[in-house]
Amino acid sequence: HLILLTGASGFVAAHILESLLRHGYDVRGTVRSEATADKVRKTHSHLLEGTQSRLTFAIVPDVASPGAFNDAVKDVDGVIHTASPFAVEVEDNERDLLQPAIKGTTEIIQAVHTYAPQVKRIVITSSFASILDTSLGDRPGYTYTEADWNPISYDEAKTADGPTAYCASKNFAERAAWDFVEEKNPNFTLATICPPMVYGPLQDDASIAHLNTSSADIYRLMNGTSKEPGHTGFPAFADVRDVAEAHVKAYEHPNSSRYLTTGGNFQYRDVCEIIKRVLPAYASKVPDPDATERVETFGVDNGHASRELGIGFRGLEECIGDAVRSLVALEERG
Ligand code: NDP
Repeated sequence: HLILLTGASGFVAAHILESLLRHGYDVRGTVRSEATADKVRKTHSHLLEGTQSRLTFAIVPDVASPGAFNDAVKDVDGVIHTASPFAVEVEDNERDLLQPAIKGTTEIIQAVHTYAPQVKRIVITSSFASILDTSLGDRPGYTYTEADWNPISYDEAKTADGPTAYCASKNFAERAAWDFVEEKNPNFTLATICPPMVYGPLQDDASIAHLNTSSADIYRLMNGTSKEPGHTGFPAFADVRDVAEAHVKAYEHPNSSRYLTTGGNFQYRDVCEIIKRVLPAYASKVPDPDATERVETFGVDNGHASRELGIGFRGLEECIGDAVRSLVALEERG
């Protein structure tokens, strides 16, 4: 059973790839270059047990270019689409965030519809960003569920700040996927995974100099960059291993559904407190947790994902503890 995993070099994708291989799936990963394919292959070679052919690659330099996936989808049984830009400081919202997110999604779906009618299931990595109403801020007393949609308009997103534009990009991409399913009634069913900030252990081929955006968000609290915890813009988290498991379980589930996958709420002051405890040698560089007051925020409901996918979400302690230990290991490797 061959699954196409787009953006196989990413932080979240590395864990999905590991889960898929452990569950016995063959995987074709899309990456932007042969050099990246080599790195990803090396990182996962211990799971291939001499059967290197279980992991192959298709080179897709830009997911948003017309026909990007037309070859990559051929002969696959299913698709997990993770590739999408996750950056919060960009030059041009439309060029750097909105268009790649939306077109990357419509390209993979259109390619499956046209060239891979055998595919029965597509799972897309969306985000809590497509659920959250960024204009309402902390929104104390409200609990977000899969029934909520980020209401931002495309015009607003074009000129919004980076984090808001990123959230919008995920929202429009996910909407485009559901619209396609509704309009075209394709052969496949769709599931979307909507995690908030994803933290946890990094893959072996990660680099401390080029951390993915969410891992960098933790690293700045242990390397002396941040002097206080600061306001937590997105006060909910998910462990990357649970997010990976959710993708595989959702792939194996027949329902068309969105899944809000989360371990619950958190604030940066909690992260600082955990880092100080887990890494005493770093304690002097970690901001004083009490330098930023705890604020009341919205809640997040993982009930649907827990019940339907059977996932017991990890707590913050385990998630951040393993994240920072792996960041130390990356630092030591240089
Ligand atoms: P990474 O930056 O580690 O991974 C992003 C992946 O997408 C990389 O493989 C990257 O390739 C690829 N990619 C991005 N833009 C393009 C493009 N235009 N053409 C080809 N490939 C592209 O981030 P994450 O692992 O964190 O993110 C993975 C997914 O999870 C994204 O869809 C993101 O929105 C979503 N997500 C992440 C959260 C988090 O906190 N980390 C929270 C919620 C959702 P390359 O490595 O070559 O740049």
